Amino acid sequence: MVQEYRNYIGGEWVDAADGARFENINPADNDEVLGTFPKATAEDVQRAIATAREAFPAWARTPAPRRGAILDKASEIVAARLDEFAETLTREEGKTLFEARGEVTRTRDVFKYHSGAGWRMTGDVLPPTSSDEMIYTQREPLGVIGVITPWNFPSAIPAWKIAPALVYGNTVVFKPASFAPHSALLLVEALLEAGLPPGVINFVTGSGSVAGEAIASSPDVDGITFTGSHAVGKEIYQTAVDHMTRIQLEMGGKNPLIVLDDADLELATKLAVIGGFGATGQVCTASSRVIVQQGIAGEFVDSLTNAARNLVVGNGLDKRTRMGPAVSAAQLQTDLDYIKIGQGEGAKLVAGGDRAGDGGYFVQPTVFDDVAPQMRIAQEEIFGPVIGVIRAGSIDDAIEKANDVGFGLSAGIVTNDLRAALTFANNVEAGVVKINAPTSGIAVHVPFGGFKQSSANTFKEQGEAAIEFYTRTKSIYLTHG
Ligand code: NDP
Repeated sequence: MVQEYRNYIGGEWVDAADGARFENINPADNDEVLGTFPKATAEDVQRAIATAREAFPAWARTPAPRRGAILDKASEIVAARLDEFAETLTREEGKTLFEARGEVTRTRDVFKYHSGAGWRMTGDVLPPTSSDEMIYTQREPLGVIGVITPWNFPSAIPAWKIAPALVYGNTVVFKPASFAPHSALLLVEALLEAGLPPGVINFVTGSGSVAGEAIASSPDVDGITFTGSHAVGKEIYQTAVDHMTRIQLEMGGKNPLIVLDDADLELATKLAVIGGFGATGQVCTASSRVIVQQGIAGEFVDSLTNAARNLVVGNGLDKRTRMGPAVSAAQLQTDLDYIKIGQGEGAKLVAGGDRAGDGGYFVQPTVFDDVAPQMRIAQEEIFGPVIGVIRAGSIDDAIEKANDVGFGLSAGIVTNDLRAALTFANNVEAGVVKINAPTSGIAVHVPFGGFKQSSANTFKEQGEAAIEFYTRTKSIYLTHG
């Protein structure tokens, strides 16, 4: 009997109004249906928004440290259930258990980090303009926040949006990705078990074009935080502007890793493998382009090719596996289509290029050499384990090639030359810069967000920067006479 999960609206676990459901499939074993989830209708979502609105005044009045204490408890619950959360994540999204444990550990830390923000929701006292005046500012929550998230980090991304939303006094309507709804549900369970009052969080699963669109088009939502593809983000932005809804969008990337001639070959290979094939390349900060200086290019391509061929692909629950499947049949097809496109464009396929194994959406770690900067495989986000090697002359040439894309999320360099590293850090167009570290992987307390088409360029996420999106500032002039 397949488990039937429910939505959480207005303090109750409920089905969709019309009873419709969708299946959650294991990408490593396509015969396994992990559960079914409600396909929320637009009316379901409107009810969730109305409930969040009703719950808002009391939650906003709850002292911020007390709100934070609930997050603190939720962090402990996540820690206690870490193995279960991680296994659920691997089963529905495909990443290896090692990667899933890392992600759930991140979720635990995000809840812990933001729990303390309840004590730091401060304003300023400013100099008076007359002798009988006091001027100060205070932070207030925005109201109802719509949280729309992707499948590739189905635990950590919702956590880093929901935690600051709640601690700063907002209520939430949360619509997770349809390919990984169970990890999202577990987060909601942890928050409720930690004592979140009814109505403060509402959980609606279902298709983006219905449930997501109902959030984006609602005049009763005060802020929308979205992570996902550029195409959908743009659509949400255009819809939300009708109501002047505050918006935060984190979208795709085409992140470069530059390898200079003086780089440690072993380190450069390791960083390319982590950044390019980690989580099956389904990472917004993945190193999908490796820009290599001519002097080291031959050796580097041999080393990367060798590493790609030796990477064990399989079910993420198997301890030997180093790379899991693509999340879905559609993503697998996208990966294979881009591999064909790359071959058609004249790039040289040196590793992978095909499906791997049966029963799941497995694809081989793939490397193209001799990729030209304007090829589609060098410009468009594939979101799969496909690395394109672009050769460069000088550091300036490498930086120019790194910047020659529409995206600007993350960028890395491998070098021991301090001057080259700083030239790169100062000139690369990316919101996150890594020197001798993978382009993927970010710390909970550091502002995160892309440049150019990778974000709406409005508000950063994470760390203390999160307060800017989730609160508004009021300036108060008090004349005491
Ligand atoms: P999508 O853009 O397809 O979906 C993201 C979310 O939006 C899902 O919950 C989806 O629902 C929902 N959605 C889809 N259509 C609409 C709509 N018309 N209105 C409102 N909501 C909608 O992205 P993916 O889930 O495929 O995730 C992969 C993408 O996410 C990649 O492009 C990746 O780069 C990006 N990403 C960016 C990150 C960053 O921080 N910059 C981090 C991680 C990922 P449903 O699932 O039901 O379709």
